[in-house]
Amino acid sequence: MGDKKSILIVGGGMSGLTSAIEAAEVGFDVVIVEKNPYLGGRVAQLYQYFPKLCPPNCGLEINFKRTKSSPRISFYTLAEVEQISGEEGNYQVTIKTKPRFINDQCTGCNKCAEVCPVERSNDFNYGLDKTKAAYLPYAMAFPMQYVIDGSVCHGKACAKCVEVCNYQAIDLEMQPETITLNVGAIVWAAGWNPYDAVKLENYGFGQYANVITNVMMERLCADNGPTQGKILRPSDQKEVEKVAFIQCAGSRDENHLAYCSGICCLASLKQSTYVREKNPNAQAFIYFIDIRAQGKLEDFFVKVKQDEKLSLVKSKIALITEDPATKNLILEGEDTQSGERIRETVDMVVLATGMEPATATVKVPAEVAYDDYGFIVSDQDQKGIYGAGCIKRPADVAGVVQDATGAALRAIQSVVRR
Ligand SMILES: Cc1cc2nc3c(=O)[nH]c(=O)nc-3n(C[C@H](O)[C@H](O)[C@H](O)COP(=O)(O)OP(=O)(O)OC[C@H]3O[C@@H](n4cnc5c(N)ncnc54)[C@H](O)[C@@H]3O)c2cc1C
Repeated sequence: MGDKKSILIVGGGMSGLTSAIEAAEVGFDVVIVEKNPYLGGRVAQLYQYFPKLCPPNCGLEINFKRTKSSPRISFYTLAEVEQISGEEGNYQVTIKTKPRFINDQCTGCNKCAEVCPVERSNDFNYGLDKTKAAYLPYAMAFPMQYVIDGSVCHGKACAKCVEVCNYQAIDLEMQPETITLNVGAIVWAAGWNPYDAVKLENYGFGQYANVITNVMMERLCADNGPTQGKILRPSDQKEVEKVAFIQCAGSRDENHLAYCSGICCLASLKQSTYVREKNPNAQAFIYFIDIRAQGKLEDFFVKVKQDEKLSLVKSKIALITEDPATKNLILEGEDTQSGERIRETVDMVVLATGMEPATATVKVPAEVAYDDYGFIVSDQDQKGIYGAGCIKRPADVAGVVQDATGAALRAIQSVVRR
């Protein structure tokens, strides 16, 4: 678009990719800065999408293809924005990249991982298993390029990976880099983090192996996950027969997240279908305050609740304890409809934790308005830097795609105005 400045997109999840593709496809240059070694964000970690129960990889693949084939999109992975100065139409941005230690000659042959002697917790699988220090983040990763975790790698003292790599793809001396860019507008699409379930002391997460969170459940069910898609409980790898989902785990609670994340009910309903798909005899229980399935998603709720092996119980579970012998979990609370006491024993508990904006912990290094919870407030007074997707409010993918398209338009307006 002539001498028009580029648009910087921070975060390469569904929102960032959408803003980037929409702006690029109408002729604007965009640069994506992503802190992970891959693009796709948290959607890449989901097993299926509600309401269609299709694999998210289809939609992601289309976005990766559009990103790859656009000469107007460039991206940095393992990168974060350190500094921003300037104003709408003319920002100077400093970006810091971490070394990947593997260059783009990598063919994804896995030889480096085979010989690597060091293991690390697998963050893609929320710590449910391990990878080698040299690893591919996940099977469909984009870019399809291995990475070495510099915080655990033994470096040149080991270098077994360098010896076996036939493509000179490994450089253990790679250094962090600083890049400066001049851009006309910035879209902040840094997304969300799961609420820290360790803070929910009465639910025993981190203390009882079989209490997991909803994001971990996505990985447990995924065919490319730690159990190859079998729902095996962490304590003994036993196939689960009774699973309880606890809604509003930390949400709508002044002591934790005061707001409703809007998608957790749908995520648990979806995950109850995973339980039944994987083991037709299994039973699922959803303990809820009220089910929030808005708009057209009501149909999904109506369909899922017909399952006779799913029990929906209106209740706030007060306490979870573990039977030390079996590692089963005992749930206690009150059925708020019948007034009866609940005491149920299950194999595994899934806490439906909510979404916290990434900006609750890492702020934009520029003047940006936030609400009480750390979500970015984008309004007309604040021209030039725009939030997109879950950094503004919790939402499903359809919602963030719409929002990110709007953010791309506002960024384009900022670039054109100057
Ligand atoms: C359990 C669960 C199940 C769900 N299931 C569904 C479903 O079935 N269907 C559906 O429609 N929605 C679902 N969702 C919601 C869906 O995950 C979100 O709508 C989606 O992830 C939002 O995308 P995003 O790009 O805004 O954020 P993210 O996916 O969080 O992407 C943000 C990206 O920004 C990067 N980033 C963060 N900070 C920085 C930084 N400082 N610098 C550079 N990069 C940064 C991150 O690494 C990430 O790649 C589910 C959510 C949960 C919790």
